[in-house]
Amino acid sequence: MINKVLIANRGEIACRVAATCRRLGIATVAVYSDADAGSKHVAACDEAIHIGPAPAAESYLLGEKILSAARATGARAIHPGYGFLSENAAFAQACFDAGLIFIGPPASAISAMGSKAAAKSMMAEAGVPLVPGYHGDDQSPALLQSEADAIGYPVLLKASAGGGGKGMRVVERSADFAAALASCQREARASFGDDRVLIEKYLIRPRHIEIQVFADTHEQAVYLFERDCSVQRRHQKVLEEAPAPGLSDARRREMGEAAVAAARAVGYVGAGTVEFIVADGAFYFMEMNTRLQVEHPVTEMITGLDLVEWQLRVADGERLPLSQNALRLNGHAIEARIYAENPARGFLPSTGRLSYLRTPAAVEFSIAGVTSGNDSGSVDSIASRTTRIDSGVREGDVISPFYDPMIAKLIVHGHDRDAALAAMRSALNAFEVVGLSTNIAFLQRLVASEPFATADLDTGLIERHHATLFPGAPATPALAVAIAVAALLNQETSAAGSITTPWLDLGGWRLNAPYQREFPFSIMPEGNSEPLTSPATLIRKGSLQTLQIQGHALPFSYRSESADAQAFTVSLGDTQTRARAFIAEEIVHVFLHGNEYRFEWRDLLAHASDTEHSEGSLTAPMPGKVVAVFAHKGQQVEKGAPLIVIEAMKMEHTIVAPIAGVVEEVLFGVGDQVTDGAQLLRFVDPETSVEGKRAH
Ligand code: ADP
Ligand code: ADP
Ligand code: MG
Repeated sequence: MINKVLIANRGEIACRVAATCRRLGIATVAVYSDADAGSKHVAACDEAIHIGPAPAAESYLLGEKILSAARATGARAIHPGYGFLSENAAFAQACFDAGLIFIGPPASAISAMGSKAAAKSMMAEAGVPLVPGYHGDDQSPALLQSEADAIGYPVLLKASAGGGGKGMRVVERSADFAAALASCQREARASFGDDRVLIEKYLIRPRHIEIQVFADTHEQAVYLFERDCSVQRRHQKVLEEAPAPGLSDARRREMGEAAVAAARAVGYVGAGTVEFIVADGAFYFMEMNTRLQVEHPVTEMITGLDLVEWQLRVADGERLPLSQNALRLNGHAIEARIYAENPARGFLPSTGRLSYLRTPAAVEFSIAGVTSGNDSGSVDSIASRTTRIDSGVREGDVISPFYDPMIAKLIVHGHDRDAALAAMRSALNAFEVVGLSTNIAFLQRLVASEPFATADLDTGLIERHHATLFPGAPATPALAVAIAVAALLNQETSAAGSITTPWLDLGGWRLNAPYQREFPFSIMPEGNSEPLTSPATLIRKGSLQTLQIQGHALPFSYRSESADAQAFTVSLGDTQTRARAFIAEEIVHVFLHGNEYRFEWRDLLAHASDTEHSEGSLTAPMPGKVVAVFAHKGQQVEKGAPLIVIEAMKMEHTIVAPIAGVVEEVLFGVGDQVTDGAQLLRFVDPETSVEGKRAH
């Protein structure tokens, strides 16, 4: 019997695994890097072992350190979560050799599926349908080109060792193939240390539908239905749901059986996911992920099963708890990944402290139909039954540049898709974050958008509906301005205590003139574009108080709630509303009817240059590591020429020349860590001979 598990991961998945262990009475050991010493996952486990500095390569990716932590604590088994060492065959083998249980498939199954090309050959033998393409060993550019020409454009080049949407290039025409191949190989070498590629027909308007499989050590294997993960940006999942809208029972069975055949072909054990791409009524194998998937909660919600519990039982040598015929699909579940990122700036990851965090009423790690304790009869219990949050952070925690920028997963369940959609909409409206950019407003628009609401799904949905999903800055309602004024006045009142200050009561001061106070707010639109200045004026005359916004003066009053310092009831004209506002430094964040409005209350324009990180900037847009340097000293470059590539939070950012000019000096080399805003190179504009103005 496994009685102690070391969780070789961090963040939400480490917390999620710990929750099931706790429920089953299994002791847990966390491992943590310097950056995570005070983190939620450490608090979630019974013991914790420090394994090194913040960079994953010096901590979470060090198999040796993790094995010694297991030895030191007497853990019998290691759960790798997802990412990090979860698909590392050598690590699975090292666990086995050390007499520990790796909670995952045998090393042999991991290696079999580790190369997309080799996996495809094996799947062809097992009779699993493949996307037309080339996945052979011969990697000579001439042969690859002729294979691509034969397949017909557009084609998709993929790093055979790839993952996480990296190392993929769509090639539209034969003439572009050679350049795309070189750049794909370069990225594959840099990211995976392996530049082999495969080619696939690039399917138009496909859907991504994957099957959750489970196998035990007694030759039993089942599928736990499908997840539709078609809503993606840059080939990475944004929303996932189960069941897949419109999938017939017959097709579900066909795909499920193909996935089980794929798993059996590699001697699979434990939880795995077989990813299919679906187009024109046919489905094709893409790859198998040999681990627990980020989006496994949607499967838990529709099956009422705890997949981590199944993993632990299988790892312990038990039989699968249920046979295929006993598995039932109930209702509909949707997951949204809440990321620290800025959708308006190309989904650039964002870092910072979560200075304020309010989440919808939810139960952590509840599984519809399994977890008890949801029927407390409280006002929130209806929401609790359908909403789950898997999160690895708390208010006050930091999203650092070292790891994935996911803040939380929001999962909802309803009796059908419409019910789940409604639950998702209200849950997103109640998710409030201050301290860094998030994709919450983007997710709200996405979930409400016509194509998603009507399940017109395919992997190009976000790009095709760009105009709807990235609207210009929304108009700021006068009510939001009034709430910001209320929050500022309330802060002053609390700061002043019971002492009456001139700010608060100036009624009698200027005997004849009414008291007036200007609030010169700058409204900060989403995406940090140019601030808009919109002053509000508070006017007090006797006991009457009005607020003048954009030329209209309306009676104004507010009340703060004693129990919750951030909640206000504000009345403006005929409208009365409850809202929340949080003041962080010089910004008032107003959360009203599911929208966030930000007001800076000093002159933002004077500081505009501090926050400028536009494309073409010669400073690092975020902390990260330099992965490529194309520029050299004295080089003359065209406007837009790539100069340096920085990698942070699983993404690459290319810094390009803002204007045509000469590189005066490159200040960093490959492998260097750079801080946010660090000057990367010195650049001169030959016209003026003045150093590139953006470099500060
Ligand atoms: P044997 O090595 O005696 O054939 P198995 O068939 O159980 O034993 O395992 C074959 C290989 O699968 C092992 O060498 C190891 O790579 C891997 N393996 C099996 N089970 C585990 C496990 N629980 N944890 C880690 N590795 C495992
Ligand atoms: P990764 O290992 O990065 O997850 P996948 O092979 O699973 O790579 O592909 C990731 C995504 O890329 C898919 O979900 C799909 O959106 C897209 N994709 C993959 N193969 C094709 C294809 N042949 N045609 C069109 N889109 C594809
Ligand atoms: Mg994939």
